[in-house]
Amino acid sequence: MKNNFLFDVHSHIDLVEEDINKIILQATKNNVQKIISCSTTFESNKKNLLLSNKYPQIKSAIGLYPLNVIELNDNEIEQAFNFFKKNISKAIAIGEIGLDFKYSKNQSEQEKQIEIFEKFIELGKKENKPLILHSRYAQREILNILEKNNAKKVILHGFIESKKLMAKAAENDYYISVGPIVLENEIIQENIINFSLEHLLFETDSPIRFDNNIVFPEKIKNIASKVAELKKTNLNEITKLQTILFNKIF
Ligand SMILES: [Zn+2]
Repeated sequence: MKNNFLFDVHSHIDLVEEDINKIILQATKNNVQKIISCSTTFESNKKNLLLSNKYPQIKSAIGLYPLNVIELNDNEIEQAFNFFKKNISKAIAIGEIGLDFKYSKNQSEQEKQIEIFEKFIELGKKENKPLILHSRYAQREILNILEKNNAKKVILHGFIESKKLMAKAAENDYYISVGPIVLENEIIQENIINFSLEHLLFETDSPIRFDNNIVFPEKIKNIASKVAELKKTNLNEITKLQTILFNKIF
């Protein structure tokens, strides 16, 4: 079992205010050996690249959060993409990218999100990097765009509300990631029971608040244990499979 490990496929370590050494130590104690830190703004990209350079456990994903994309002009977007192309070899994935139609309702904003999202898909294909996706109120649209652009290596963050869309994602050989919500939400638990372990990853979205506490990557062990219980297997088997999936995807 020594070489098998758990990992956090979606966090924001650049936003953590606590001591990062301590957070990594706690994660390691719980066998969470790799932590993918997703970028949201231009500044956040720089910070995550520095963090991944400093800590071997942290892997950075480069990208722009869909709601931040709306604020940028063409010049700034071009500048950002030049930076991404230059630094992509230092990143493990592209994220957090995608669509958010909950907080962005007007059509021109949504079109802009789609345009940038497609640019990221192209970059991912060219560089063979997985995409870590946000899809709030746009789950159907996300699947359509991914299919249309023949996207490869897709990880859908929090894509756990619709059994039907989850099944579609797995059918396309996309991965979904589930976070701490699976610890207590019975509908989500039911959806996970019906989903294939071969397409399931774990995330914390750290440093998000859950149950009034800030969640850190060590929480992955609880999530994995809960999923083991739901799927009537054990943590060792889950850990073994997660290791295989990490090596396959990244
Ligand atoms: Zn996130």
